[in-house]
Amino acid sequence: MKTISILGSTGSIGVQTLDIVTAFPDRFQVFGLSAGANIDLLFDQIKAVHPKAVCVRSREDRNLLQDRLTQAGIRCELYFGDDGLIQIATASENNLLVVAIVGTASLRPTYEAIKCGIPIGLACKEVLVAAGDCIMDLARHHQVPVLPIDSEHAALKQCLAAVDEDLTQVSRLILTASGGPFRTWSKEALSQVTLEEALKHPNWTMGPKITIDSATMMNKGLEIIEAHHLFNCPYEKLDVIVHPQSIVHSLVEFTDGTMLAQMGLPDMRFPIQYVLTYPEKWPNPWPKSNLAMMKNLEFFDPDYARFPLLKLAFDAGKQGGTAPAVMNAANEAAVSLVLNRQLAFTDISPLVHEIVATYDHWSNPTIEELLSLDADVKDQLYALHRR
Ligand code: MG
Repeated sequence: MKTISILGSTGSIGVQTLDIVTAFPDRFQVFGLSAGANIDLLFDQIKAVHPKAVCVRSREDRNLLQDRLTQAGIRCELYFGDDGLIQIATASENNLLVVAIVGTASLRPTYEAIKCGIPIGLACKEVLVAAGDCIMDLARHHQVPVLPIDSEHAALKQCLAAVDEDLTQVSRLILTASGGPFRTWSKEALSQVTLEEALKHPNWTMGPKITIDSATMMNKGLEIIEAHHLFNCPYEKLDVIVHPQSIVHSLVEFTDGTMLAQMGLPDMRFPIQYVLTYPEKWPNPWPKSNLAMMKNLEFFDPDYARFPLLKLAFDAGKQGGTAPAVMNAANEAAVSLVLNRQLAFTDISPLVHEIVATYDHWSNPTIEELLSLDADVKDQLYALHRR
């Protein structure tokens, strides 16, 4: 029996993680859940999986939830805010912590859980983008596995198993990108995009932040930086290929010129299950791929001119130090404005470029410096936007 906690249980990844947990009731139990403000769904989840501890964002929501649980006769430890997240993340009961909160809010709880030796299933790529050196150094020091809940990185990890993750036998890690909803759009058409169009991803059903990041292709840029940290892979060996069908989830090219690809339907339950059952494969009831139904598997080079944030992410990653954290914070703030209809989708890239250009970058930042930099960059972007 594996005991897991999920930070962000009411989001897209959290809900699908609980699908898997409840599909294998004799193999998994839940210690803790955390959610933002979706108290109705959280209440249903508590009734379904009986966690010992739960965290919500605000004190008001905690009191609200406490009343509902008392009425229903359910006992459960309730926390709120950042301290509550850390309580759940660091509980000694956890055999695995699934981190599925959007953005750098998950940085501190992830860091504290690793310090306690708790294995991490990481669905929040912003953690490694902003603080990859700190997080991975700490994970190596405590010998804590950080397993990627991201289809591309789960694919790379499975292909890399062929050489025991020995990067000297690898010439390239090739991340596939669907290209998002605007893959074939001209530069002119791209300048007229609306939020509704950006939120329509052709293949994947995901949360709103990552869907917007896929539309700008910043998502692939964040994933390149994530891959750099997860596999200790130099940027010279990292590549992107556009693959609109999202069947090949990524590839590894070895030094002998051959490749391994990992394939499957674009369904996040596969990479989530991979992490939950790692290193084993278990049978499951989800729909499977049918090769004969796949008429075309296409591959194209990415267009950095139409998707400049992908290029920016490569550059920030190579620069290292605080550069990816600044870019990530600026992007996170810009996307949140877009999702609140306070900024046009087309303004994300110029605004993020402008912010990144105003910051001096430095090497070897501490986690505290990165957290305060993250807050500072977001404030700067909001101030710039208000002007
Ligand atoms: Mg991905």
